[in-house]
Amino acid sequence: MIDYHIHTIFSCDSHLKPEMVCNRAIERDFYEIAFTEHLDLDPQDDGYGYYNYDDITEKISELKSQYNGRLKIKKGVEITYQKEREDEIRRFLNDKDYDFIIGSVHLVNNFDVSHDEGTAEFFKQLDRERAFLSYFEVTFDLVNSGIFDCLGHFEMIRRYALKYIADYSYEEFKKPIDEILETIKKKRIALEVNTSGLRHLPKETYPRMEIVRRFLNLGGKYLTIGSDAHLPEHIGYRIPETMKLLKNMGIEGITLFNKGEKISYKEKDV
Ligand SMILES: [Zn+2]
Ligand SMILES: [Zn+2]
Repeated sequence: MIDYHIHTIFSCDSHLKPEMVCNRAIERDFYEIAFTEHLDLDPQDDGYGYYNYDDITEKISELKSQYNGRLKIKKGVEITYQKEREDEIRRFLNDKDYDFIIGSVHLVNNFDVSHDEGTAEFFKQLDRERAFLSYFEVTFDLVNSGIFDCLGHFEMIRRYALKYIADYSYEEFKKPIDEILETIKKKRIALEVNTSGLRHLPKETYPRMEIVRRFLNLGGKYLTIGSDAHLPEHIGYRIPETMKLLKNMGIEGITLFNKGEKISYKEKDV
């Protein structure tokens, strides 16, 4: 099993100790994990200024030798995407060395749609259709930018939106969603299946399985899987059962990354 989306004390919103994550992953029989701490470049973001590349790099190389032969550990990052910060993100990445780079949409038109208040305000200010379309537009720009290895938690806007507004179906926004999926395929990046949605209001992965299936039907190849862990009980959260669902959808394995290079991974038990 794999968990490719984990936050620790190196992210502003997690208290998880990296060693504890590794121990828990081994206990749960995980083969490989990626630490994907938040990099937030917008001063309005809670995580702004928190990210410390050197400390993270040092800790991960320490862990790699400490857990050598027991657990594979990758250095990832989760970057908050904003179109206007593309150059800044590229400059940041220029002299860095990552295995795996997730791009995620947390901010849309300066509304923080990864938090309750920001989402409430977003849907107060924009009409429902415009709001969802804006979210898809930012997501399209992210995948089209060519900066990232993977699109993180697509549809996470549903986490709080469903408190305030009627949910949407894939059919309702088929066109912009298909454009995003086609672009992921064209750019040869990965779509993340993020299990945190199973513990949030939508009670479905991000994105929902219907959209994962659509991605595969369109010829999309690369999938990663992650729990978006911020707490001990999140590590590997419902990944075994989600892998079974993916296998039933016909996937042979998921994609791992090594310094940005894709490696296909087949699990005997998947
Ligand atoms: Zn995120
Ligand atoms: Zn995350």
